[in-house]
Formats: sequence, C-alpha cells, structure tokens
Amino acid sequence: MSTPTTLEEIVSLAKRRGFIFPGSEIYGGLQGFYDFGPLGVEMKNNLKGLWWDWMTKKHDNIVGIDGAIITNPKVWEASGHIKSFVDPLVECKKCHHRFKADDINDDKCLDCGGPLTEPKMFNTLVPTELGVIRDEKTEAYLRGEACQTIYLNYKNVLDSIHLKIPFGICQIGKAFRNEVTPGNFLFRQREFEQWDLQWFCHPSEMERWFEYWKEERMNWYKSIFTHAENLGFYKHEKLAHYAKKAFDIEYTASPVGKEMEGIHWRGDWDLSRHSEYSGQDLSYTDPETKEKFVPNIVETSGGVDRAFLFLLLDAYTKEEDRVVLKLNPKIAPYKVAVFPLLKNKPELVVEAKKIYSDLRKEVSVAWDDRGNIGKRYYSQDEIGTPYCVTVDFQTLEDKTVTIRDRDTMQQERIAMDKILEYIKNK
Ligand code: ATP
Repeated sequence: MSTPTTLEEIVSLAKRRGFIFPGSEIYGGLQGFYDFGPLGVEMKNNLKGLWWDWMTKKHDNIVGIDGAIITNPKVWEASGHIKSFVDPLVECKKCHHRFKADDINDDKCLDCGGPLTEPKMFNTLVPTELGVIRDEKTEAYLRGEACQTIYLNYKNVLDSIHLKIPFGICQIGKAFRNEVTPGNFLFRQREFEQWDLQWFCHPSEMERWFEYWKEERMNWYKSIFTHAENLGFYKHEKLAHYAKKAFDIEYTASPVGKEMEGIHWRGDWDLSRHSEYSGQDLSYTDPETKEKFVPNIVETSGGVDRAFLFLLLDAYTKEEDRVVLKLNPKIAPYKVAVFPLLKNKPELVVEAKKIYSDLRKEVSVAWDDRGNIGKRYYSQDEIGTPYCVTVDFQTLEDKTVTIRDRDTMQQERIAMDKILEYIKNK
C-alpha cells in the first residue's frame, strides 16, 4: 500500500510540470492567488467544457450566460452580502494574526497561543472603485458569488429565449472573496471560479427538483473521478432562513477541506429580494394556467478550482518505479504523446512529425524526443497522458506504430492510420 497523497506532492508536481504557478511569484507572491500554466489551462478548459456540454446539451431547458464581474453595488445590498457576508474574526493580541471565531476552541491564538480579542465583523466582498476623478469615484464590488448575475438576467433570458418553467440558467465565472484565511493551495483562494446552475421551478415542485439535482450532480462527479468511492454528501444542519435543506458534495479523501459543490434550496429569496430592491416585477405567469408566482430556485454551485485540485489528488498514484496521474482521458491535458524512437534518425523523426501533425488537427498531442523511451514514458505518466505512440524502424517497413497504455503499461502494435480511432474508442 502506498502512503496517502499529500498536498505538498500535488503542489510540487503542479509547479514542476506547468499545471499551477503561485501568483506574482517573482514579487514574492500574493496570498490566495494562483495562475494556471500550459498544462493546467488545458486541463481546466477540458473540465469546464465537459461541465458546459453536460449542462446545456444533455439537459433540455438549460441555457448559459456569461455575466459581468462588476455589477451595480445595489445587487449586494439586495443579496444580503453587504450586511451578512461577514465572518466574525478574532485577533491575537500578541502576534496580531487573525482567525475566524468559528475556528477557535479554547480562546487561544492558533499560532502562538496568545490571548485573543473579542470577535469583530469583517466583510469579505472585495471593493473596487469606478471612475477616473479621485473625489468622484463610485465604490463597487467584484462579485462575491457568480450566481447573482443569473438572477439579474432571469427576466432577460425568459423574454428573449421564451423558456417555460421549469428551466435552468448556468454559468461559469470568476468570484472574489477577501478570505480571512486563504490557503491550502487552490482550496481557499481570493480569486476563484465557480460553475453554477440556477434551476427555476414552481414552488410546489421544489422537493422533487432538489432531489433530482442532488443526484444528477453527484452522478456527474462520479463519472469524472477515478475513485468515485471518495465522493460523498454532507448534510447541513445549520440552514439559511429560506432553505429547507442543503447538501455539499465532498471529496472525502482530501487532506485539506472537503467541500466541492453546494446544492442549495434558495426558494423565492433571490428573486423576491431583487424585485424589492430594483422595483421590477420578477414574477412568472404560467402561459396555460395564468397562475402568477415568483419562481423558486434550486442552486448547484461548485468550485472549478476545488474540483481541479481534488481531481489531481484523486488521480495521483504512486507505483513502485513511477508516479502516474490516472486522470480521466477526457480531462488529461494531452490525449496522446508521439515519439520517434531515436532523435538522430531523420527518417524516424519525419514519420513521427507527420503523425504528430495529423493527430493535432483532432486532439491535443505532446511531442517528446528527449532522453530514452523509458524516461519519456515516465514523463508522460506524471502528467496523465493516456497513450504514447512510438515510431520505430518497423514503422518505416509496414506503417505500424507501438501504442502504450498509461494505466496498464501494455504496448500494442497498430496501423498508423488507426491511431485516432484507437484513442477515441478506448
Ligand atoms: P466555504 O464554506 O468553504 O467557505 P462556501 O460554502 O462559502 O465555501 P459557496 O458560497 O457555497 O461556498 O460557493 C460555492 C462553491 O465555490 C464552493 O462549494 C466551493 O467549491 C467554491 N468556493 C467557495 N469559496 C472558495 C474559495 N475561497 N476558493 C476556492 N473555491 C471556493
């Protein structure tokens, strides 16, 4: 049995192999900010693409939007964030470190054991200023949660696309929070990305749709994680006043926090509040029964970066003489790697380059001609490339190549014009 994967192993691999870099690193970094590198952005785009297609193509009645990051500041009054998006904080009188009051058990500083202040309120919205003239600037906020732009556009979507309830609006977008204790790599950042579905339905149908989305979302995560047994639900006991129930989907094997996505019963809270604060009627009239009501909402709100981190933890496998990232091939940054057996044999290089260029038209392909074949396999295993194709002297005679499977390490000989079919059928 290998030892459990640590966060340090993932952080190190992520930087070394170009998945994730610490933000502003040459200036000493900035806590809570990260940049995605060449492999990270490919993997993240694959992941977001899967989510988007699953939402909008596999379900009737779901459409997407891409809302602005800055909204009219009144949005955050209506949403309750300006009043209640706060964490009571305590500060250590000795080392001046701050902590969430909820994390403290025995009134002592978690870092130095010093005495603590009384809890103080702190707003986690990130403020910004709009306007160029110093004294005439307007204060606004970077959105604290992406879903608000969905509520703001609910009526626009309804009027322009003519959907009938029940329907959903989905979005992938950035959110910003002045987290008190950013840390644990991608788990708690100050800038992160969320994928949200807001499902609008009749109040009498909330129970059914809540259960439906709870199961649907879990099944989706199970379809992309290698160890589905490490996914579970956490039931919230403390609920928002408008919620009947709330569940998190967790990655239970995480060495840091576990929450990946929240399934929330939002009732008519959001649309009613925005109606009240904007003075606009956001109710819905059923075209057949003519019943007028404020739609109720089931929300599924997940963290793209947390899913990314958990997928890396889930895939990272230590074997006797290699580290292999057993990522779902749909998510892996490269689908296949192509090598010429020997770098200094032009006839092999030419043939391999041809295969590389042809495959690139369809899938993402890595090229490697450094070191020996063993080292190249090791290198591709570590970044999760499902297949490696080698062009050797036999290729020149009979147009076949070897294709090696990342997980089984088995090699097969196949015709070079069948590579794409082979990869796609696996
Ligand atoms: P937490 O309790 O961990 O602070 P939350 O319950 O406040 O999270 P939500 O507001 O429900 O989170 O946001 C939906 C999702 O956004 C979360 O399930 C999580 O995956 C992601 N998320 C929230 N805060 C962060 C953060 N600071 N960094 C990265 N992802 C985050």
